[in-house]
Amino acid sequence: MNTETCAYCGDETDMPFQCNYCKDQFCPDHRLPEEHRCVKLSLIRARRFGQRGVVRDGGRGRRGLLGRIFGRRQ
Ligand SMILES: [Zn+2]
Ligand SMILES: [Zn+2]
Repeated sequence: MNTETCAYCGDETDMPFQCNYCKDQFCPDHRLPEEHRCVKLSLIRARRFGQRGVVRDGGRGRRGLLGRIFGRRQ
């Protein structure tokens, strides 16, 4: 059987997952970019934000934006 070593925790796994972004192999626990601190994580987040055009709000994040939206409705 083909075993791989998780690039994050070093455990061997029979079911390696390859990250779509950094192309490393990970165990099921660390297959998501958030869970292995993917080197591309900041890129992924930037892209998600970019699609919505919310970059302006910077550090305040979603809460500030939601507050503004709800504030308007009331
Ligand atoms: Zn792992
Ligand atoms: Zn990754």
